[in-house]
Parts: sequence; structure tokens; C-alpha cells
Amino acid sequence: MRMLEVESLTVKYGALVAVRNVTFSMEEGEIIALIGSNGAGKSTTLKALMGLVPTHSGTIRIRGAEVHDELPENRVLRGVALSPEGRYLFGRMTVLDNLLVGAYAVKSRSDIKASLDEVYELFPRVHERRSQLAGSLSGGEQQMVAIGRALMARPWLLMLDEPSLGIAPKVVAEIALAIERLNTERGMSIILVEQNARLALRLAHHAYALEHGEIVVSGKGNELLDDPFVRKAYLGI
Ligand code: ATP
Repeated sequence: MRMLEVESLTVKYGALVAVRNVTFSMEEGEIIALIGSNGAGKSTTLKALMGLVPTHSGTIRIRGAEVHDELPENRVLRGVALSPEGRYLFGRMTVLDNLLVGAYAVKSRSDIKASLDEVYELFPRVHERRSQLAGSLSGGEQQMVAIGRALMARPWLLMLDEPSLGIAPKVVAEIALAIERLNTERGMSIILVEQNARLALRLAHHAYALEHGEIVVSGKGNELLDDPFVRKAYLGI
């Protein structure tokens, strides 16, 4: 059984078609990347997978179960979590309290403690800053907290929307390493949405480029890095 199957997904905002007939699938333990310029429909695709925007047509199956019209909280219970673009932390709450928000559906205290330890192990800087107000952290640290909050739901499908946006290169490298570790050490499946196509293609097993809501190119991450069209359109080479 495929972990995720998306078939002919179309999402509209009023008359605007933001995602048109998008079809892709992923296996357990894969990293896939969605790349493309501003407004290509990448975030909308993630929101539709999370149930945050209604689908106009098409199907989404998570581990074989069709999730049409299912609420986001139920998809969280299925093991799907999103770290949204812009992070959306509660700036006047501590880092720890922000992390605990992500664990709202986890009942067992020992599971919550185990998740916290895993987040702290992955991002030692988040551990150092755990008692600080989230709003006082640097952009890169806030991004780590946002990813950590998604991990607190104990997902097996983690969706990351623009984790490198506006972050210093050194911190981007730390976050990239964390993404690789989540995949290789914990077997987590990851959908990475990135405008930083080079980073995304380097990390992803499979990648899809979106333009005006449609998939225009797809292939293995490392193969697309060498693809002349991709190099010209997305890597500026
Ligand atoms: P970005 O990196 O800028 O977020 P994106 O590829 O993620 O780009 P989306 O955010 O999915 O693109 O946007 C796809 C299209 O849908 C764009 O034309 C955008 O203006 C439009 N759109 C996004 N959200 C809404 C909304 N809530 N209401 C109306 N239109 C929207």
C-alpha cells in the first residue's frame, strides 16, 4: 500500500484555480519535494493534504484511506503533520509551551516526554532556549521550533512548507541535516515545499515542479539537478 496517493487534485479559491489536476504518490520513508516559483500552488497542495482548504475535485488517500472532507485534527491522528510557511508560533508563549501545542492530540505523558526528548536531541538549540519566549528567537531558531511542534504530534508524514525561507545559510544547513536525519534514522516520510530548489532536489528522492498549479516536471531529485530545463528554470544556471 502506498503511503500517500494524490489523484487529479484540484483546489480553487473562488474562481482562481490554485492547484489543477495534480497527481503524485509516495512510498513509506520517502522524501518528496515540491518546487516552483511564488504562487505555483505548493502551499495550497500541502493545505489540501492537511484538510485546511477544501478540495474541489480529485482524491487523497493516506495509507489507503480516502480522507475527502476529513478534518485536519483527524488527519493529525492518522499521523500527518504540517509545519506551515511563516511558522505561526505564539510569540508570547515559551518555546516549550509552543512545542506542547503540537502534542495536543497525544494522550500519553510518556509519549509527550519521549517526543520532547527527540526534538531536543534533533535541535539542541531549541533545548537551550526552551524557557524563552518564542518571539525572542532568531528566524532560524523559530523555524526549528515550528518543525519541533509538528514532530510533537508524532507524525510519520511530516510536511514542511518553506523551512529555509529567510534563514541564514548556516542554519539552513542545520535544518537540512535534521530533515535527512528524520528520514534516515527515524524512517519518517517527508514532503518538502521549497523555493530553494537546489536544497530540495538534493534532499528529495523524488521531486515535482509546479507551475500555475500544474506539475510540469517530475523525476528523481538528483536527476532533476542535472536536467537542463530544471537548471535553467529553477536553479538559475
Ligand atoms: P508561495 O511560495 O508564494 O506560498 P505557492 O507555490 O505556495 O507560493 P500558493 O500559496 O499555493 O502558492 O498559491 C497558489 C495561488 O493561489 C496563488 O495565485 C495565490 O495568490 C492563490 N491563493 C493562495 N491562498 C489564497 C487564498 N487564501 N485566497 C485566495 N487566493 C489564494
